[in-house]
Amino acid sequence: MGETAKAYEIPKREGSVWPEDICPAYTPRRDAIPCLKQCWYCRYADFHLMEETALEVGICKWPQKIME
Ligand code: SF4
Repeated sequence: MGETAKAYEIPKREGSVWPEDICPAYTPRRDAIPCLKQCWYCRYADFHLMEETALEVGICKWPQKIME
């Protein structure tokens, strides 16, 4: 990845998020790995995980859940 993970004070809300970023609203999706708390595993992140090619940079859709 290479980028430095960022910790936001509030959800990015329609903003770009990198997989390793995090914010206080982080809510793990069902298949998240418990020890890895990052946007990649957040229910509110849209990384196009259900599509053929996932996005390198996702969109925070908080408060709308994208994955359960
Ligand atoms: S995707 Fe989740 S952890 Fe990342 S900024 Fe949005 S609400 Fe916070």
